[in-house]
Parts: sequence; C-alpha cells; structure tokens
Amino acid sequence: MWALFRNCRKACEYRYVLGLVSRDKDQNLSFGSLIHTCLELWHKDRDLTSVLALIDQACSERSADEAVRKDWHLATAMMTAYASRYASEPFEVVALEKTFEGAIINPTTGFPSRSFCLAGKVDGIVRIGDEFFLLEHKTASQLDSDYLERLWTDFQITIYAHYVEQTMGLPITGILYNILVKAKLQQGKGESVEEFEVRRAELLAKSKTGKTTAKRRLPESDAEFQQRMAAKYAEPAMLHREMLYLSRDRFDVLRSELWELTQAFLDARRRGVFYQNTSFCFHHHRPCSYFALCRSDGNPNVLENFYQRVEPHEELRPLPESVPTTTTAF
Ligand code: SF4
Repeated sequence: MWALFRNCRKACEYRYVLGLVSRDKDQNLSFGSLIHTCLELWHKDRDLTSVLALIDQACSERSADEAVRKDWHLATAMMTAYASRYASEPFEVVALEKTFEGAIINPTTGFPSRSFCLAGKVDGIVRIGDEFFLLEHKTASQLDSDYLERLWTDFQITIYAHYVEQTMGLPITGILYNILVKAKLQQGKGESVEEFEVRRAELLAKSKTGKTTAKRRLPESDAEFQQRMAAKYAEPAMLHREMLYLSRDRFDVLRSELWELTQAFLDARRRGVFYQNTSFCFHHHRPCSYFALCRSDGNPNVLENFYQRVEPHEELRPLPESVPTTTTAF
C-alpha cells in the first residue's frame, strides 16, 4: 500500500480507502500468484508431482479457455524446469509465506504511530551458512541488466527485511531474488484446409517445376509444445538468482521515508485529496487497472460496471489476534 501511495495517491485511494478492484481478472497477477503458490509448495515438500497436480487443478478450465491453457503450459514448463535446475539448494528454508507486523516509528521522537502499524508477508526466509536472507520470488517478462539494476529500488522488500529483523529477531543480511522468466513461445495453432490451399497455391506459383512438397501444418500437440518449452527453459537465463546485500543505512532511509508516507497519507485522508500521478498510468507496460475510472473522471456508471469492492489487504487475512482493533494494518 505504501509503495502504491508513493507511486499514485489516486490508485492508493481506489484500492485501500474505497476498496475497489477491477472486475476484469488481471492475467499477469493471477499467473504470478499461481507460481508463488507452486514455489511455496515446492520449497515445503520438494515434490514435483504435487506441484504439477496443483497446476492441473488451478487450470482445470484449460480445455475451454485459451488464456487458462496458456497459463497451464507456462506454469507446467516453468516449475518442471525449476525442480530440475534447483534439485539441490545452497540454502536451508527457515520459513515460507511468513506474515509479520510491527509499529511504524517516528524517527525524531522514537514513538510509534497511533494510526498505523505495518503488516506484511514475505515469500520466504532462508539460511546460508550463518546468515539469513529473505527469499523473494519474481516472475518477469524479460530479464536484462535494467531489471537487475532496479532491484535495489525495491522499497517493499527492503522495509520488510527491517521488520522481519525487528519482529523475529533474525539479522537479515540481504535478499535472494528468485527470478523466473516467462517464456514468450506460443503453441502452434496449425492451419485450416483453406489456409493451406492458399499457401500451397502461392508456393506453386513461385515454383519453377510446378510442384511443391508443402504439407498442411497441423496444430502443435500439448506434448510437442511442452518439449519446445523445456528446451527454452534449459537456457540458463530463464531461471535466475540474484543476491542483494542490504546496508543498515538503507534501513534508516526507508524507515524515515515510511514515517513521512504515513504523515502524507493522514493529511491526504483528512483533506480528502488523493491526487493522480498520470506518469504512472502505463508504468507496467499496460494500463493501470483504474485507468477507465480515471479517464472517465470517476463516472459512477464506470465504477458500477467495471469495479467491485474487496477488502483491502486480503493477502494478510486473518491478521494475528494481537493487532489492536483500533489499529489499521497497512
Ligand atoms: S490510471 Fe493513472 S492516475 Fe489513475 S489511478 Fe492509475 S496510475 Fe493513477
């Protein structure tokens, strides 16, 4: 929520104050969440059969829905390759999908905020030798030097590292980014009889002998496509691990930024002003999920037809009982 508030206050208001989410399922988000669940299961039991069964179950509509079918192929190939590449690990898993909560401290007075605490969930905590690292899973469309350079700007995970350290008493040395790249291959659709006839006629027209050996292209079977995907995932760059070491100075900077964000949020809420940052609308190379709402200047019909209300922070439910009922968990 704080990262979103920093990026676009209006989006933060829509999601976390008004509890609005788009009725359209974001395919990228649901794929990312499937892979996170698969990775949790894999790192818990290291049993590929149960991971693949989970994907089969999650994508049970694959024969009727093309988008689900794509996800099934990608998740199956990705996790099969992952299990083979990381058959043994250099780390020991300490915790998976670990939730935590802690006070947000005013850096000047040392007193905690009376309005907010910070709650979050990390993908994992691992130990390498006698050092602890946060394990952070990422599914990426493309992995290049810019992507890796940007990792240090990851506000959320760095602030989480600080809170895990504080609340669990584990000194966090850094972040182990576990990056899984999404293959862009498409399953061959084949060609219809008519398409084949057109192509054949074109080839014959160009042929000096007046003959052609062209055959109709048939749709690629699931097994053939999985074979092609397996070859793609054998490329080293498709699964990548990157270690980022954290400095204590960075913790201090981000803790004080977090406090500033709480103050700015309180001010925005008191005045009812959450302004738009239109530079962020296409930040993820696709329109922000509130684009229709912003473009229509908050038209109630757009809101009613394209959005629904969902509890904020659903990923953290149920919160530990120790969270005071008067405290909003952000
Ligand atoms: S569409 Fe643009 S301005 Fe509107 S909430 Fe999203 S990022 Fe902000």
